[in-house]
Amino acid sequence: MAGILENSPNYKLNKSILEKFLSLPQPPNKIQATYIWIDGTGEGIRAKTRTLDFVPEKISDLPIWNYDGSSTYQSEGSNSDTYLYPVAIFKDPFLRNDNKLIMCDTYKYNKKPTDTNKRLSCLEAMKAAANHKPWFGIEQEYTLLDMEGRPFGWPRNGFPGPQGPYYCGVGANKVYARDIVDAHYRACLYAGINISGTNAEVMPAQWEFQVGPCEGISVGDELWVARYLLHRVAEEFGICVTLDPKPMQGDWNGAGAHCNFSTKAMREDNGIIEIEKAIDKLSKQHLRHIKAYDPKGGKDNERRLTGRHETSSIHDFSAGVANRGASIRIPRGVAEDKKGYLEDRRPSSNCDPYSVTEAIVRTVCLDE
Ligand code: ADP
Ligand code: MN
Ligand code: MN
Ligand code: MN
Repeated sequence: MAGILENSPNYKLNKSILEKFLSLPQPPNKIQATYIWIDGTGEGIRAKTRTLDFVPEKISDLPIWNYDGSSTYQSEGSNSDTYLYPVAIFKDPFLRNDNKLIMCDTYKYNKKPTDTNKRLSCLEAMKAAANHKPWFGIEQEYTLLDMEGRPFGWPRNGFPGPQGPYYCGVGANKVYARDIVDAHYRACLYAGINISGTNAEVMPAQWEFQVGPCEGISVGDELWVARYLLHRVAEEFGICVTLDPKPMQGDWNGAGAHCNFSTKAMREDNGIIEIEKAIDKLSKQHLRHIKAYDPKGGKDNERRLTGRHETSSIHDFSAGVANRGASIRIPRGVAEDKKGYLEDRRPSSNCDPYSVTEAIVRTVCLDE
């Protein structure tokens, strides 16, 4: 394992030197703002940093910025200036002090959204459905990889023992790189992300964290920044994160991003009736949802939604209480309380949460 980590240039750096500089006093009214955005793959995250001579308190304080879209698969070289519009502000857990992380969405030279800007239409749907008070909680599963692309901690030639002991596992032979998980959790809390939990997953080197419940558009903003923090924390350890929905072929779990969803009516007494109505609407729009639930319109999820490993088949819609083999699961506690939320288990781990939550709101709240 040490040999594999030593393939990572970042791992070789002595991090205690950085602290000498990060602990230097920062001049008043000079803060570093890291602008974060989604690139042309719809999955990749990019970021760059600038100095501001004030501490931003709200979005309208922040300047619009730009970048070279031809280097992010987002435009032609001849017309490459692409705009960054700030949408949400978080505290920066790496640079600390008054330094900020700025989630942005992206616009072409003509001020039209880029092809992978799924936020704008999501926001329109959320505004139209605001009186339903839609809440979302997303379970982000992911896999840690070494620099050779192998799940972190797996034997170089061969495989770990079969799945069974790893989910919520404890112990050096069960889970790998909890350091990253704990560091990321605390970084999210510091940043101001509504992270609600974490656990080791079924496949070794696979983990999950949850963001939510968040109302409306904010779950997308927060999940994207939580993903940024995860890649960024892992970078310091010399480890990579993949959101591929099926990183290992064969009898190994895939990775999803279950989307838990409720409206105000579902959360009130006898809300189970509203939950059942929502499931009926979802059952009639299965294809729309499959198209929205991974960045390749269903192609990525085809490898994962096989009907095995606690998934449903991509071809069928199904729902049930406590059923982890269904498209939609009603948690046992929700069935008992007769109110609460439903869990849509179909979204892929590399989904765009803006597309997922938009599809749910359009189907369930807006009857589209
Ligand atoms: P699972 O049992 O499927 O592993 P988790 O505990 O991982 O579930 O995740 C459940 C998610 O549901 C959390 O993110 C939580 O915040 C969210 N959640 C809880 N109540 C609601 C609700 N009323 N509406 C939407 N999301 C909710
Ligand atoms: Mn979970
Ligand atoms: Mn899970
Ligand atoms: Mn779940």
